[in-house]
Amino acid sequence: MPLSTETRLQAILDGTGAGTWEYNLDNGEAIYNDRWASMLGYSLEELSPLSFQTWEKLCHPEDLGPANKALERYLSGEESQFECVIRLMHKDGEWRYIHTRGMLLGNDKGDQSRWLMGTHLDVTREKQSQHQLERLTESVPGIIYTFVREPDGQFHFPYVSRKIEDLYGLSAEQAIAYPNMMFETVHPDDLRRVHESINLSAESLREWVCDYRVVVDDSVKWVRGISRPERDTDGRVTWHGVITNIDDQKRLELELEHLSITDELTGLYNRRYMLHKLEESAAENERYGGNFSVISLDIDFFKIINDSWGHPTGDTVLQTFAELIRKRTRKSDIIARTGGEEFIILMPNTVLTDAQQVADSLRTALAAEEFVSDEGETFSVTLSAGVVSWSDDMATVRNLLSVCDQSLYEAKRAGRNRVVVSGQKTQN
Ligand code: GH3
Ligand code: MG
Ligand code: MG
Repeated sequence: MPLSTETRLQAILDGTGAGTWEYNLDNGEAIYNDRWASMLGYSLEELSPLSFQTWEKLCHPEDLGPANKALERYLSGEESQFECVIRLMHKDGEWRYIHTRGMLLGNDKGDQSRWLMGTHLDVTREKQSQHQLERLTESVPGIIYTFVREPDGQFHFPYVSRKIEDLYGLSAEQAIAYPNMMFETVHPDDLRRVHESINLSAESLREWVCDYRVVVDDSVKWVRGISRPERDTDGRVTWHGVITNIDDQKRLELELEHLSITDELTGLYNRRYMLHKLEESAAENERYGGNFSVISLDIDFFKIINDSWGHPTGDTVLQTFAELIRKRTRKSDIIARTGGEEFIILMPNTVLTDAQQVADSLRTALAAEEFVSDEGETFSVTLSAGVVSWSDDMATVRNLLSVCDQSLYEAKRAGRNRVVVSGQKTQN
């Protein structure tokens, strides 16, 4: 025997755990089912006499207005369904979140009364989870987000936590509605790297980790994005992750990095950095060809300068000479103080004769400089230099430096205040 429509409907309602309500908009009559009352800890008898006010009395005062507004929007045709979430008071004194849905039904008995019928579903647990999740995202020291990239390259942020405001100066709503804004905030010098790292993560499905700067109201902040990608069968890639403020950490890191490659007295690079750059240049030359030259400079009789005028004056000589080199070299040249009164200049894309000219101009400039001691006495300083260009038969940077040192040594031996180019005969 087939089940009656009524029995089937009842079974469905029992299955969903929904309370049902019917409300006559014209005479205020209201009907509720047993489940509606038990959802709130009551029996229907306890709540009798039943009317529209039964619901109204249990409803949180703050939710009455929004519920009425939702109903108006539905009745005016603005919305296709009456839907809202309200709070109703349970018998135990606690508020329950109730998802309300309803529709208008015509009366088939011919009279004109309009019945609004619908369900009430307890969504307190979902609401609580949502609430907990929101609290959790608030306590995480960063932005939590989901980023989706479609196979055609379109992208959007289905979720961005409120913290976006602190870092990007955008509201979560803005970031979700205008996904481009997130990228427009990225520092122009970092944007390409950000895009490339996202592409790489999408291709390899490896974690996206990227440090970059965001610019908000002319202030620059370092942030770090970390997120995990997953690709669905349609080729859509979704990342879930966090973006944290690493500004303090990054500035300290950059400061330490700067200190570790800088000579404190002159502000030039130090020996360690020079060796690193020389290795890098040699490797680059081996791979792509090209040339670079190196000048090794050593101040003549510096010990005597210290002994005669004092160590602080010696320091001033070193600083003045450093400034002199800076002025007479290109931006792309790397200058380092590699020892007490020894300097090395690495000149990319420079042939031997050009490097020789620079070395010689430094020699004459230093010789022409007039130094004044603490006691007011004037003195001058000279330098000796070795110049060398990288060639394939050098094989190693160590070898290159040894050839350059040899030239410098020859310059010293030949009487100082001169430049010796490796491979050329020294003139006395
Ligand atoms: P040469 O012409 O052969 O190069 O002789 P020199 O006296 O310049 O060479 P030497 O290597 O014998 O002496 C270098 C001196 O540089 C010794 C050291 O006291 C001094 N020196 C090293 N570092 C510093 C520094 O930071 N400041 C000052 N003022 N002197 C330094
Ligand atoms: Mg020396
Ligand atoms: Mg010296």
